[in-house]
Amino acid sequence: MIAHPTCGALMSVCKNSVSVLQTDCGTPYRIWSADLWECPDCGEQILGGFGRTPVAERWDDDFAALAKSADYTVAWRLGAPPKAQP
Ligand SMILES: [Zn+2]
Repeated sequence: MIAHPTCGALMSVCKNSVSVLQTDCGTPYRIWSADLWECPDCGEQILGGFGRTPVAERWDDDFAALAKSADYTVAWRLGAPPKAQP
């Protein structure tokens, strides 16, 4: 269950299996399959339900074509994970 805290409404999936291009510092990096969720009150959309593994990675033969046709792009920086708070 996913809710939009601003509206207090339960969001629902409006499109399954959208393709999401993940970039690292602006460079295409991975392609994911995810679901597009939408708030019924305000129409705000979020991406969720990402697959456990990417659909394609940058070294795959079909990566360039998949990246070009991706529905959405999200940025992600590589680096050390945040340190746990004591
Ligand atoms: Zn809303």
